[in-house]
Amino acid sequence: AAWEKQVRHSSTPRRANGMSVLVTGAAGFVGSHCSLALKKRGDGVLGLDNFNDYYDPSLKKDRQALLARHQIFVVDGDLNDGPLLSKLFDVVPFTHVLHLAAQAGVRYAMVNPQSYIRSNIAGFVNLLEIAKAANPQPAIVWASSSSVYGLNTENPFSEHHRTDQPASLYAATKKAGEEIAHTYNHIYGLSLTGLRFFTVYGPWGRPDMAYFFFTKAILQGKPIDIYQTQDDKEVARDFTYIDDIVKGCLGSLDTSEKSTGSGGKKKGPAQLRVYNLGNTSPVPVGKLVSILETLLNTKAKKHVIKMPRNGDVPYTHANVSQAYKDFGYKPTTDLSTGLRKFVKWYVSYYGIQPRVKREFNLNPEESA
Ligand code: NAD
Repeated sequence: AAWEKQVRHSSTPRRANGMSVLVTGAAGFVGSHCSLALKKRGDGVLGLDNFNDYYDPSLKKDRQALLARHQIFVVDGDLNDGPLLSKLFDVVPFTHVLHLAAQAGVRYAMVNPQSYIRSNIAGFVNLLEIAKAANPQPAIVWASSSSVYGLNTENPFSEHHRTDQPASLYAATKKAGEEIAHTYNHIYGLSLTGLRFFTVYGPWGRPDMAYFFFTKAILQGKPIDIYQTQDDKEVARDFTYIDDIVKGCLGSLDTSEKSTGSGGKKKGPAQLRVYNLGNTSPVPVGKLVSILETLLNTKAKKHVIKMPRNGDVPYTHANVSQAYKDFGYKPTTDLSTGLRKFVKWYVSYYGIQPRVKREFNLNPEESA
């Protein structure tokens, strides 16, 4: 069928010893960037995404169109659709899965808790069940989150620090994913690598994240809320630029070992890893706002309030020495540089380019 032909074409590597990667959440922020980077270096990529409306689905459709221009096909389907996933693995002998599909966001968990259970727990288990039964079994790299450190006050966070105090249901489901991965590694010999991303930002980013909706609010002259902890400390995040995260994802895929399989075929323990991928330099949210004010050449209307118990944690800070040691991960983009690239994308995507050239502090060649 035409569908099968597209699936095969998209996932066939164009370089010798290239990977064939199933990218779940490919129409998402991180998934779209990783898919493009893999394709550009000659790996085969097939995307899967359910295009849900947690945030503006037209942004997901536009990312899909961008991928299509690079011959990357994104299947419209859900992680929980077992027959669909089996069919994909029947058609393509995936060597790797980059599993990024999830219900993201900490506050929405108070609105729709079930969607976190469905995608982050049931959906992850379904994917692992299919991967375990596949021949060959793929190596799996999946997105965990810095949120697993929860209320931990150690600074910076290292992988061995405690992760038993989640502050949101989102964090609890990401932590559950790590435990579930352990069991599939232990019983079925699946090669599994969890990546704890720290607040990822950049072009094609997520509209539900602070840097994104702050930009929108500042441009519209609307007030923005800035949270302080109960003891008046500023909330800080280890904001990590998307290109650095992409390098970490590709580096961990490149150093993934093969799954060793279950039952009588077991050749020894399969690989099980977890890494922080952050920027190693937390920035207070107030500073984020002042960088945006400079880039947009507009004052924000700031509204400082005490932090409610809504799932947010006071600060995040990554120690990335393990990822550096194992695959040379080294973040290279500071927040001002990264936000400049985000703002440049934002104004061009939302068609406010002309105003920016005149009023904003962007160089003409940068906003071209
Ligand atoms: P995103 O929401 O842009 O991407 C996730 C994609 O998965 C979306 O396009 C969504 O439609 C899709 N999806 C969700 N549930 C699905 C399901 N059941 N079946 C199929 N597709 C489904 O989010 P993102 O920022 O790109 O995040 C990617 C991954 O990284 C997620 O696992 C997220 O939890 C994790 N993460 C992100 C950040 C960050 O700051 N962006 C930080 C830590 C962890």
